[in-house]
Amino acid sequence: MKRVLIFLMFLFVIFGCNKKSISQDNSNNQQNNSSLQQAYKYYTEGDSQKAKLLFEKEIANNRNLAEASLGIARIAVDEEDVANAKKYISAFFATKTGKPDWTIAWGYLTAAKAEYLAGDNKKAFEYLNKAEEIGKPKGAMEDLNVWELRMNGYENVKLVLSLKFETDHLIFYANPSSQASNKIDYIKSGFEKAYAQITKKLSINPKEKITLFLYDTSEQGKKLTLRELGFAQGFEKRCHLEFGPKREQTFGHEITHVISYEWGIPSSALFGEGLAVYLDQTGRNEYEWCKDNKDKLLHTKELAYSFFKHSSEITYPQSAAFVRFIDETYGTEILKKLYQSRNLEKSWKELTGKDLEDLNKDFFSKISKSEPGSKTDEHKTSPFSISDFNYPGCVFKKQGNTLTGESDDEPSKIIKWYAKEMPSRGWKTGEISSDSATFSKNNQSIFVLVIQPIKGEKTTITITLQKD
Ligand SMILES: [Zn+2]
Repeated sequence: MKRVLIFLMFLFVIFGCNKKSISQDNSNNQQNNSSLQQAYKYYTEGDSQKAKLLFEKEIANNRNLAEASLGIARIAVDEEDVANAKKYISAFFATKTGKPDWTIAWGYLTAAKAEYLAGDNKKAFEYLNKAEEIGKPKGAMEDLNVWELRMNGYENVKLVLSLKFETDHLIFYANPSSQASNKIDYIKSGFEKAYAQITKKLSINPKEKITLFLYDTSEQGKKLTLRELGFAQGFEKRCHLEFGPKREQTFGHEITHVISYEWGIPSSALFGEGLAVYLDQTGRNEYEWCKDNKDKLLHTKELAYSFFKHSSEITYPQSAAFVRFIDETYGTEILKKLYQSRNLEKSWKELTGKDLEDLNKDFFSKISKSEPGSKTDEHKTSPFSISDFNYPGCVFKKQGNTLTGESDDEPSKIIKWYAKEMPSRGWKTGEISSDSATFSKNNQSIFVLVIQPIKGEKTTITITLQKD
């Protein structure tokens, strides 16, 4: 806990210095280091494969041995490749020169992570303490604190999210005073249903339960985990998500990351995030989303190789559409192999018979031919998908073109929520009154009606879809 406080004090000073410190510390030897800097640039942009090639080149040319070894070790840790992590960490420590203090802090931190992943927590903490002893490891401090929490199993978080409940496959930790505590059955059934769908779709049978930490707000999550919500940790089978009054994350996204961890580390975020959005169980039609946003779409090579350079508002849903396209065209086995590929540039042709350029063309043509609402396979839904209109905490029943559900909230609060939420989902606001609202999109409109509760009863929400 003390470390966390110290970290918070430093946060304002060092925030974001991860990237900066690398370039600052390397500036003294710039002309020899441009290749090394380029490698770190690729690394911070998320293109580990390119970074690794450059680091390896440095080592082959006997240049920047220490820093290049450290770079490869860090990538190996990210990929949870313990053997290579240890090998390159040893190479780093064995190198006598070219090790500014910040690299030594990172060296110990990387060694700690490798030991943790290897299952030796005692050694992991020894290295962690060494990293800390170096004194304020520039750029490593934030990472160090995040990993300390991780290695501790988030015991401190469990003190706050002390309401624990379980299902057959899932363990939940929630805030006892939050709204989640009133919705335990809804949470259990929503996540269990998602779990059943995802494991069936991916033909994966996890042996361990998945742990879900449900935070009230993103601020609470950031304070306790030192990271932005939501995120998943495949190795430990844990998910951290926002599930509160402002936002309820989807049932499927984070647990898909944990379940698909059985396939290994994804070849690219195109497949990692694409799969998680594809299986998030919202029932969204990915191709329709692409059609609605066709001016903003990216070439698939941007998603495959430069995912993090672009806005997540595009990369996530478009990747989901591409994953769906691969799944429906080539099947889940090929999707899995692309996900697992360690050399994507080669795998496109080997696995699909087409190069990426042709796949990209086929993908865009598939989008343009998609019919509103058509979703094949088990995703097949009518144009009226419950999850498009879900009010937080309300379980809707669908009958024809009408959804009905109940809520504990005041009618006015419910109408306000729809008035705020629907435009952000692309619906145009029509008339709004104290107990009803209309919205329209393309050639559809919806009518939301809220019925005042009789004393002691719940508010009824009715949503009707009309097609023009
Ligand atoms: Zn994700």
